[in-house]
Order: sequence, then structure tokens, then C-alpha cells
Amino acid sequence: LPQVIIIGRPNVGKSTLFNRLVGKKLALVDDQPGVTRDRRFGDADLLGLKFTIVDTAGWEDLDPETLPGRMRQQTEASLVGADVALFVIDARAGVTPLDEEIARYLRSSRIPIVLMANKAEGRAGDPGLYDAFALGFGEPVAFSAEHGQGLADLFEALRPHIEGTDDDDDDDDVPPPEGAEEEEEEFDPESVLKLAIVGRPNAGKSTLINKLLGENRLLTGPEAGITRDSIAIDWQWFDPTSEAYRPVRLIDTAGMRKKAQVVEKLEKMSVADARRAIDFAEVVVLLLDATRGLEHQDLKIASLVLEEGRALMIAINKWDVAEDPSALFNGVRAALDEGLAQVRGVPLLAVSARTGKGLDQMLTAAFDIRSAWSKRVPTSALNRWFDDALAANPPPAPGGKRIKLRYITQARTRPPSFVMFGTRLDQLPESYRRYLVNGIRRELGFDAVPIRLTLRSPT
Ligand code: GDP
Repeated sequence: LPQVIIIGRPNVGKSTLFNRLVGKKLALVDDQPGVTRDRRFGDADLLGLKFTIVDTAGWEDLDPETLPGRMRQQTEASLVGADVALFVIDARAGVTPLDEEIARYLRSSRIPIVLMANKAEGRAGDPGLYDAFALGFGEPVAFSAEHGQGLADLFEALRPHIEGTDDDDDDDDVPPPEGAEEEEEEFDPESVLKLAIVGRPNAGKSTLINKLLGENRLLTGPEAGITRDSIAIDWQWFDPTSEAYRPVRLIDTAGMRKKAQVVEKLEKMSVADARRAIDFAEVVVLLLDATRGLEHQDLKIASLVLEEGRALMIAINKWDVAEDPSALFNGVRAALDEGLAQVRGVPLLAVSARTGKGLDQMLTAAFDIRSAWSKRVPTSALNRWFDDALAANPPPAPGGKRIKLRYITQARTRPPSFVMFGTRLDQLPESYRRYLVNGIRRELGFDAVPIRLTLRSPT
């Protein structure tokens, strides 16, 4: 049978829950000395859902001085072999420091966690329920072991984790669980890279695309804003490092522009083009003109790309005719770091669409940054970093009251999006938030991709 282990600090009602789930079969409780000395096993039947329930209540009878340390040991030991952990807190008492400590251990385990707020009968448990959200295990199951309330919700919460692990196949006719956690499709670094080349008129976008394609498919000319016909071009890039072809879909922004529109306001239109390209692209290369450097308009486009959460790279084109290349490069680097508040260290490359210089490096960098943009950090590693970051630089205490940061989780990829839980978060200074975002970027390998951080307080 699948194994469900009950975890929680003393007095949250673990034994009552255990008895409630095992019912009359209490006689099956295993009281043998040895490994199982401080655990009880029982056969549970929850509205037809059958599993072995394991109670760890015995811990608390041991030396109470070292409770947190012992709980950690016990938690780790007992999680081995379990299919789901039922993490129980006391809704009336709210989330205590020991609960938080246990939550931290549980986060680093690979076992699914179902959070239960026990003693939730009546209204007295409501504040604790909201508090429990902040533990980051999703919505807590409101339960009353004493009164047997919440059995249906517990059933719904456990079912996705239990069905499918059951090797008795007598419940084959049960439809697949609907609330089952959707696994995000895993990112394949060799999937088609959707790459847009944007930039001001005459930066050399079409020339660059032609060079990449090795054919004169697009029109180019000295005349700004000349029209083209393509929007997306599927193509294989030969990667000289891996000596393999890698699929790329190039998005030609200028090609999206209707001929009739190309009358005036080219400056404005390059921004509009970028906006449209962003919808299609994973990675956006902003092409600069070496003979002009970084202009205000370029920063505007760059900001737009980052605001939309796309991976951004900057390529200085026409490098073959650049005067004083190193001064130009350093000048653009400095202007970027100053002008783009959101992301420091956006990849900057020098290319020549005419000679082909730097183009393979540009593609290599584009595949790399897409991987960073698509990356997911396990919650355990994330919170290890988080704890260190808070220890190294504790959050401030405006008005003498400390802002409490509890826990962080990566909610999404592409772009990497994080949710941080805590209290008094409305007081968190922007500088501290930036400290955390830069830490995520630097320490967890997100490079220079835009990162989203949402703050959440229990209400
Ligand atoms: P677009 O408006 O961004 O598509 O720019 P085009 O590709 O039409 O190029 C504008 C002008 O810049 C053309 O005259 C190109 O020949 C020229 N050009 C583009 N790339 C390079 C380059 O790498 N080096 C030099 N010297 N000229 C370039």
C-alpha cells in the first residue's frame, strides 16, 4: 500500500488524526522496538482511499531539549519510503517557529507534501489557516481530527499522490485525479530557438538575417525601412562547437511592417516592431549600429524587452567599420548598465553582419541565455540560498519592527518568476528587493535574464 506519513510538532493532533484515519483497525498498530519504535503504522481507509498511515508521535516523548534537532533527524529518516507527507499544524495556534523549521526540512525533501491545518472546527482556526499559506505548500486542508471534519478535502488532497502508487489494481475504474499537480513540461535545450532581431532602422537587421541564412532572401539596402516579406524563418544553425545543426526560428521584425505604414515615424515604428517580435520570441537580440553607438531609442527597446520578460542580448553591428572599438564597447557596456535598471550584465557582443564576425558566438549565447531563462531551481536549493542571503544581510526593521521573510519558491519559468512569503512586505525597500533578485541571478545561475519576484503576505 502507498505510505502516508504524518509529520508535525507535538500537540497538533497527530495521534487523534491517526486514530481517526485508522478507525477500528487500531489493533494493527505496530509497537515493535527498533526502527519503528517511535512510529506507529496503521491501515487507513479514507472514503475508499486505502493507504498505510504512519504516525511519528513517539518523538515528542524523547528528550524535549533537542526537539528541533531530533525532529529533523526523524523527519528525514521517516520520509524514506513514504509516498506523501501529511504535514499537520494547529490552526488555532497558527504557524509556530517549530512548524517553520519542520517546513524547511520538508521543502528539501522530494516527497509530495499535503499541508493540513488541524483543529480548524469553528472560526477559531481561520487566522491559522491563512498563516499556513505562507509555508508555501499551497492551500492547507482545513481539518478537525476531533470532529472528523474535512475528510472529503483530505481525500481530494491525498488522492492524486496515492493513486498510481498503489500496486493493488482493484481501483482501475477510478478516473484519473483531476486536481493532480500539473507537471510543467520539461525544457528541451535543443528545441527550436525562437529568436528575434530588433533594432532601429538601418542597424543591419536584414543584412544580419541574410548572412545567417546564407542566401539573399531578404531585401537590404541603404534606404531605411525597406519592406520585406517574411515574418518567421525556420532555419538550422550549424554549431561549430558541438558540430551539430540546431534549429532556429528567426523572427524578422521589419518584415512584419506593412509597406503602407513605412512612411514616417520610423523611430516609433522600431519600438512597435520590437513589441510585436517580443510576442513571438524567446530571445531578443537588439542590434546596435557601431557607427552610432547606444542611443536613447535603443534603451527604450531594451527596456521593453525586459519588461515583457524576454531574454535580451545586445549586439553591436558593423564592427568591421567601428572606430576605436574598445572605447565603443566599454562605453556601450557602461551605458547599458546604467540605463537598464532591471538587469545588469546583459550579454553584449560585437558582430558584423557583413563579414559574419561574431555570429556563431551570438547564436551560442542565445541558446545559453534561453536555457537560463527556462531554468527551474529546486525549492530546497533556492531556500538554502535564501537563508544565507538573509543571514548575510538581514532585512531592515522600519520603525523598529522587523520585516519577516519566510520562504521563497519559483512559481514559473520563462521568465523565471518567484514568490516570496513573509510579513510586513509592503515595507520592504526596493533596494532590498533588488539585493534578492540580484542574488538569485548571480548565485543560482540565471545570468542576465529578467527575473520576477512577487511578494505575498498572509492576510
Ligand atoms: P535594417 O533596417 O536594420 O534591416 O538594416 P539593413 O540590413 O537594411 O542595413 C542597413 C545598411 O547597413 C545597409 O547599407 C547595410 O549594407 C549596412 N550594413 C549592415 N550590416 C553591416 C555590417 O556589419 N557592416 C557594415 N559595414 N555595414 C553593414
